[in-house]
Order: sequence, then structure tokens, then C-alpha cells
Amino acid sequence: MITLRKNIAAMDRYVPGFQPEETGWIKLNTNENPYPPSPKVVEAIQAELVNGGENLRKYPDAGSKEARRVAAELYGVDPSWVIMANGSDELLNNLIRAFADAGDEVGFVHPSYSYYSTLAHIQGAKVVTFGLTADTKIADFPDSYRGKVFFLTSPNAPLGLGFDNTYISELADRCRGVLVVDEAYVDFTNTSAMELVKKHENIVVTRTFSKSYSLAGMRLGLAVARPEVIAALDKIRDHYHLDRLALVAAAAALKDQPYLRSTVAKICATRDWFSAELRQRGYHVHPSQTNYIFAEAPDGDGKRIYDTLFAHKILVRYFSDPLLASGTRISMGTREEMEKTLAVLSELD
Ligand code: PMP
Repeated sequence: MITLRKNIAAMDRYVPGFQPEETGWIKLNTNENPYPPSPKVVEAIQAELVNGGENLRKYPDAGSKEARRVAAELYGVDPSWVIMANGSDELLNNLIRAFADAGDEVGFVHPSYSYYSTLAHIQGAKVVTFGLTADTKIADFPDSYRGKVFFLTSPNAPLGLGFDNTYISELADRCRGVLVVDEAYVDFTNTSAMELVKKHENIVVTRTFSKSYSLAGMRLGLAVARPEVIAALDKIRDHYHLDRLALVAAAAALKDQPYLRSTVAKICATRDWFSAELRQRGYHVHPSQTNYIFAEAPDGDGKRIYDTLFAHKILVRYFSDPLLASGTRISMGTREEMEKTLAVLSELD
């Protein structure tokens, strides 16, 4: 008889957000970008496919050298401080594998990205969660935190506010293990912990291409940290973890910062307009520095919001967690999609 490792047998599979197969849905449930990626990304992929896809015959560059070089230039660090990844999920996974043994503690804020918990359980690590205070600090965080890895989602998911750098710096001093600042949504705000990586040897900043760069379908992420940390992550990753198309897409996307800024500006403008409209209708909308908003309905019935929108083929994310006051997370679509969403919500009595 086959026997699973005990912790794998005991854990549940992570269920990602619903991806409907049929067309006609307005998808506001997984924080994807409603705009296509930079045309330069598409050109780079097409160029990689010349001569009937002849390049695909060969393995990709196992060191992601060009993409790392471009990222390093953008962030003002040496390429030895950068690693590319197959989605930032790969980095979160490998950070746990690199730093936490079975039984070691992995910490994060709850509510935040629930996948941290799945990844920790795969490793057999012990999950410890901390609450958030009303002024976006971590409740009861010890002066000397002994966990091997602590994930700080900044800006926070699903509430949307970031932590300031003075506070992140203080947390890094209090962490004896690695402090991973998960900046999946950071392009929608104007502060980042990136500069702290040089000051604190235990800070790792992770980024994704799935949101601001409109490349969720390519599976791309990156991390910036001290070369010792990057070398450890390089040791344990799959050697060909990024395919040829993803590699050229990553470099082209990073190079086209004007395109990134223009889509981000559109999304932030939609977010601010949509938040104001909901507030006028009596919703409590948390201030957001991301491409989604977290809203609590006037009657506190988030399930009704979800069901009503679902009936109109609009997908949002509902949280039944009591800590989230039955709120709804709504990713920002195009202005037109958000107008339709608002029209449905306005019909609710
Ligand atoms: N961190 C956070 C906070 C996220 O919300 C997500 C996406 N759901 C990720 C990481 C993973 O992003 P990726 O698509 O790059 O794996």
C-alpha cells in the first residue's frame, strides 16, 4: 500500500479562484489585469517563435540571464541580487523549502494570501498567524520573532493597504528568520520595500507579473534579496523553471515601464471612482493601494452581493471569514465592466 507523508495526507488541496471556461463573464475575482500586456511583450514572444518555432526545440537559458539583467538594472542592484521565477508562488514555495525545516515556524498575517499556509503544510512547517490592528500594524508581534520565515503582504491582501518602510524595517530587526515582503500589488502604490533589501540581510522582496504587467497566463515572478539568499533559491529551483516564451516576455515587460505606468494609472483611476460610488451607496470601502477593493455591504450581507453579481455573470470574491466581516473583494476591471457591476449593485435594495 502507498503511504503519503503524514502532513500531506492531513492537508487540503489549495483551490485557486474560479476560472470560467465559457465567455461572457466579467471576471473580478482573481485580481487579474483587465488590459492586455505591453505590445512589446507580444512582439518578443512572436520573435521567439520565428521559423516555425525552431527555437522551441532547444532548452531555455537555465540562468534567466537577460531577464535578471533587465530587472537588476530597473531596481539598481547587481544581477546576483535577482532571481526570476515561474510565478511568485514558486518563490514563496522555495523560500519555505530553503529556510524552514519540518516543525519550524512559518508566520504571516491572517487574513492575507492563504496559499502561504498550504506551502508551509507541504513542508511540514508549523503555521502561526497574526492579526492586523486598525492602523495596519501586526497585532502582538514579538520583539524577537523566532519563526524561520515571515510573509508580509504589502500592500495587504485582501484589505489593500501597505505597511510603511519604517515599520517594515522595524519588523526586519525583530525577525530572526527571513522577512519576505510579498509585493504582488506594489505597482499600484508608490512605496516599496525594495530599498530595504540593502539595509537588512533578512529581507526578501517578491514581485509578480500577474497583476500590473497583465501576465498571469505566463506565470512569472521575481525576487530581490542578498546574493546568499538568491544563491540558495537558485540551488533548489527546477533548473529549467522558465520556458523560452516566459523569459522573453519577462524582459520585454520590465523594459516597457511607460506601458506599465499607463495601465496602472487607468486601473487606479477606476478604483478611486468605483470606491467613491460604492461609498455613496452606503458601503464601507477600505482604502486601497492595489488593483482591488474590499467592500462591506450596507446590510453586512456579502454573500448576497456575491450571489447577485454571479447571477449577472460577474465574478467577485466573497470571504466568509468572520475577521473579514463578510466583505467582498472586487478586482478592478475596465471602466465599462465596473459600470456594469455598479449598475447591478445599484439595483439591490
Ligand atoms: N502573493 C499574493 C499576495 C497574491 O495575491 C498572489 C496572487 N494570487 C501571489 C502572491 C501569486 O502570484 P503569482 O501569480 O505570481 O504566482
